[in-house]
Amino acid sequence: MSDETPPVWRPETLAVRAGYDPASAANAAKPPIYMTSTFAYASARQAKDIHEAYFEGTGPEVGRPGHIYARLSHPGLDMVEARLAALDGAEAAAVFNSGMATHSAIALAHLRPGDSVVFSRPIYGGTNGLYTGLMPAFGVSHAEFTDGCDRASIAAAVEEALSHGPLKLIVIETPANPTAAIVDIALVVDIADAVGARTGLRPLVVVDNTLLGPLMQRPIALGADLCMTSLTKYCGGHSDLLAGGVSGSEALVAPLRLLRTTLGSHLDPYTSWLLLRSMETVHVRVERAMDNARHIAEFLRDHPKVASILYLGFLPEGSAARAVYDRQCKAAGSTFSFAVVGGEAEAFRFLDRLTLLRFAVSLGGSETLITHPATTTHYALTPAERAAGGITDATLRLSVGIEHVEDLLADLAQALDAV
Ligand SMILES: *Cc1c(COP(=O)(O)O)cnc(C)c1O
Repeated sequence: MSDETPPVWRPETLAVRAGYDPASAANAAKPPIYMTSTFAYASARQAKDIHEAYFEGTGPEVGRPGHIYARLSHPGLDMVEARLAALDGAEAAAVFNSGMATHSAIALAHLRPGDSVVFSRPIYGGTNGLYTGLMPAFGVSHAEFTDGCDRASIAAAVEEALSHGPLKLIVIETPANPTAAIVDIALVVDIADAVGARTGLRPLVVVDNTLLGPLMQRPIALGADLCMTSLTKYCGGHSDLLAGGVSGSEALVAPLRLLRTTLGSHLDPYTSWLLLRSMETVHVRVERAMDNARHIAEFLRDHPKVASILYLGFLPEGSAARAVYDRQCKAAGSTFSFAVVGGEAEAFRFLDRLTLLRFAVSLGGSETLITHPATTTHYALTPAERAAGGITDATLRLSVGIEHVEDLLADLAQALDAV
């Protein structure tokens, strides 16, 4: 199916066209939903060939759309995977029923007792739980770094991990939430190469690309081995589905698809269709949301009731993070945090006065969402851990949507009066 998409097409075009060929489905202009759990074989010989293709990657059915059982693969999954791979500029992609199912599959595919992993901080709570809660129970140790633009800081974490055992994965989230911390992807790849040259075992570099998404940051082009995305966020884009994906070389992605068969974490036919449809408009939604976000960030920066703001577009000129941002990111995204003057009481008064903005976790939907990290997403952390992550009792996180910006600004302005 990916043969139909010449590489010259730009991501905006690929988002609409990649992954679906009308000739595969009665010339329907748009993809059907294949609501089936199992697939009939044309003959006993074909059944054997399809299994050979799936499990060995050899034989006459390789590259043909043969299916066995929907937990292994199904047409909707094939289409959405081809589209994600095209958007990420990767050879292949695997799609799962959530971002965390994707992170978990990557960890379980590559980590064995005695191995170690390095990750960047701050990192998504679920990813943190995976590497500091679950994987240690399987004998996997971890080391962390916080300054992702500083070679010495990353190298120190790498040495610590190597002292525990073979380093298999370096997992980075950039930009990170809620601090807008940047990790230099090319620098991490360079460090991974150096570890490989020295120890004979090169760790894989995994980038969680959720915050900017496939259109605004291209980790594969920057040398990452695997690009992971919570498709629940910008690609799904309407806060009405959960999905996750990972892209990279076929050699790295194929084992993840096989493992998914064991874990049972495939994306179902209906949600695959919904996601395929949402991906067609991701660039339009993201561009509008980023436009709104810039206006709102400027309004908040200049407002007397706002104490501070962490917006990528405001990274100081001349800073290391700014240099990496200019090289690595196409735009500043539409999720950022700010702090009101005061503490929890002021933040709560502000939140309870909002009428248009919805108070809910998650990000990347068409509607603007706001959260109070200290008492919601980061509730379980100690105050010291929150402070290390840049979260105070006055911090609020915004995921700006695609509403009219004047309506959003008016709601923010009247609610700030309550602070
Ligand atoms: C939401 C999110 C995830 C997890 O994705 P789910 O689809 O909710 O499982 C992982 N990483 C980041 C950065 C996220 O924002």
